[in-house]
Amino acid sequence: MANPFGFLQYKREDNPYRAALERINDWEELQTPLAKSKRQKQAERCMNCGIPYCHMGFYGKQQAVAGCPNENLIPEWNDFLAQGEYRLAFKRLSRTNPLPEITGRVCPAPCEKACTESLNGEGVTIHDNERFIIDTAFENDWVEELGTPAKRTDFKIAVVGSGPAGLSAAWRLNQLGHNVSVFEKNDRFGGLLMYGIPNMKLDKKIIKRRIALMKRLGIQFVNNTEVGKVITADELYQRFDRIILAIGAAVPRDLNIPKQDLLGIYFAVDFLTDITKKVLAAKGKVEKTLAGKKVVVIGGGDTGGDCIATSVRLGAKSVKQLEITPRLGKIRKADNPWPEYPMVDKQGYGQEEAKELYQEEITDYSTSTTAFIGSKKGEVIGVEVVRVDENFQPTSKTKKVIKADVVLLALGFLGAEQAVFKQFEVQEIFDNYKTNNERVYVAGDAKRGPSLVIWAIREGRKAAEKVDETLRVM
Ligand SMILES: Cc1cc2nc3c(=O)[nH]c(=O)nc-3n(C[C@H](O)[C@H](O)[C@H](O)COP(=O)(O)OP(=O)(O)OC[C@H]3O[C@@H](n4cnc5c(N)ncnc54)[C@H](O)[C@@H]3O)c2cc1C
Ligand code: SF4
Repeated sequence: MANPFGFLQYKREDNPYRAALERINDWEELQTPLAKSKRQKQAERCMNCGIPYCHMGFYGKQQAVAGCPNENLIPEWNDFLAQGEYRLAFKRLSRTNPLPEITGRVCPAPCEKACTESLNGEGVTIHDNERFIIDTAFENDWVEELGTPAKRTDFKIAVVGSGPAGLSAAWRLNQLGHNVSVFEKNDRFGGLLMYGIPNMKLDKKIIKRRIALMKRLGIQFVNNTEVGKVITADELYQRFDRIILAIGAAVPRDLNIPKQDLLGIYFAVDFLTDITKKVLAAKGKVEKTLAGKKVVVIGGGDTGGDCIATSVRLGAKSVKQLEITPRLGKIRKADNPWPEYPMVDKQGYGQEEAKELYQEEITDYSTSTTAFIGSKKGEVIGVEVVRVDENFQPTSKTKKVIKADVVLLALGFLGAEQAVFKQFEVQEIFDNYKTNNERVYVAGDAKRGPSLVIWAIREGRKAAEKVDETLRVM
């Protein structure tokens, strides 16, 4: 333990967020890194407690998520960081996490909520420490060495999908010596890291840097190739020993109310993808296509928050967000104890930006959308909403219409495209990533449903290790 009194000496300091009204003028990252000396002191706040909950992943009989789902060895790398042993910190972090530059930017950090210090104050800045360690490793060219296999095997593995699950699986399989090809149906690699999460949360340069490194390490990347259509299951069987399907859970949830085909109504990921393409094409300078427009975002989750932040940057005249569940309280409930992730009210970066810009709260809770209103030209002009009770039943005399020129549906996802599973004759997916088809494995959102990047990374790594285990006994 580098400093047994660190947690008493230093207050928590996060990587500072740029001011909301400044950052809405660009598409650059939201946070700027803390100075190196300060970051090292932050690591000294880790108490290296006897039973650390930050890295255990699950808790109690219900197996609630508590701590890092990837079982990252947090106290160990915090200790190295606190001692200034950055390279050792990087090596320890990389034992479990092949993509820490991603999680160090976008992970909601359940680890910090399970940190012992958060019981009686503020947890250690684990997320920001993680980003510092990996950014330092890239600056010093330490990453390639860890990805280089000791020995090549003759086995060939196809990974379908280049989201975090596919990338994590490909990285680990290559590290273990296998020959890996990643197939992606989109033009760019990264899955929702590329086309979903906006640039200000995750600069696309970060993903490109990782893909470039993976290519240098010998991994083949094939874009614009939808498996099941452009290349069939039979073709993959002929060329590869094993196939990992990491195709995500992209089927969007719908509202199933009248007039959803009106012009101006978009699914969140379609909207976000379009804007990211424009940001990348225009190198940051994007036309303010929502100038003068009233935007309504349906869905109160993180994707909704990303839609708000994007609309604000596109010059929207107003943004309203509708959420069907009631607003959460400020304090944990008794059935949601530490070290579980606290289900409490929090304001995302998008809500914060919109509140400062429009000088009002933009989210209506306990509000259900009952119909879309259209013009004669077939364009959306409003949404009809009603207040609902705790059982989501409408309450009387609360119906109203909110004006809208653009409506974004951020209602979550139903699951993976079934056509791919059908072509590979996958009917059952087991906990250990195997399926009823002994040559096919499934990982990430495609297996567990819509989730978090760190879950996808865990699943990709574990699926890769399961494939390796079965190949080595052949
Ligand atoms: C808008 C948005 C914001 C989010 N923000 C966060 C966040 O801040 N933090 C966080 O932890 N999580 C976030 N998430 C969730 C996170 O992005 C996902 O849980 C994660 O990306 C899942 O990874 P995956 O690899 O399983 O799937 P995906 O990232 O969905 O990748 C699947 C890939 O497979 C490809 N594919 C599908 N079918 C085929 C096929 N037949 N052939 C070839 N390729 C195919 C797809 O094109 C895609 O590239 C967010 C999600 C969304 C939608
Ligand atoms: S990946 Fe997320 S949960 Fe795990 S250590 Fe990093 S910030 Fe914490």
